[in-house]
Amino acid sequence: MKQIKDKNFIPFIESPTLQARVRELGQQLNKDYSGKNPLLIGVLNGSFMFIGDLFKSIEIECEVTFIRVASYHNTESTGQVKQILGLKEDIKNRHIIIVEDIVDTGMTMQEVLGQLASQKPASIKILTLLYKPEALKVPLKVDYIGFEIETKFVVGYGLDYDGMGRNLDAIYVLKQES
Ligand code: 5GP
Repeated sequence: MKQIKDKNFIPFIESPTLQARVRELGQQLNKDYSGKNPLLIGVLNGSFMFIGDLFKSIEIECEVTFIRVASYHNTESTGQVKQILGLKEDIKNRHIIIVEDIVDTGMTMQEVLGQLASQKPASIKILTLLYKPEALKVPLKVDYIGFEIETKFVVGYGLDYDGMGRNLDAIYVLKQES
């Protein structure tokens, strides 16, 4: 991990702080979803490490699955089209918690939320480890937030920098942006 651990990146959220907050989020879900058997839907790739730790701190009955979001340019409309891949479960009448690593502009989550909501779940909420409020470009209600952070590029704990750094157990920030 030489690019990450050298001078370009500095620690931003240490592992014990991350772990403590993830446990708190799990405890909150234990309270809010008792008896509801929620389905956690993790958005790959970035959420895999976070959702693993979060899932371990949930003591109530619950299930987990994963999706990917593919973006492609639609030549017949302006902008990007986002397609949800990999969802096999029937989410109708289920209590859904979408689990993201980070909400930046919010465009990914807005699209995912809209597409999943159209399948008529009993309830649907967004949970993200990191949230950049000043970067938000669309109206989006984020229900559970691990940490609100400034608009900086972060890496580690599942988040990558050109594919690298996902295995770091803490969150790092690019030095020149700090
Ligand atoms: P949004 O649609 O909210 O702008 O972007 C969401 C996606 O962008 C995240 O799921 C993540 O993949 C990527 N992203 C946004 N900010 C960061 C960041 O600071 N670091 C990394 N590694 N990925 C980011």
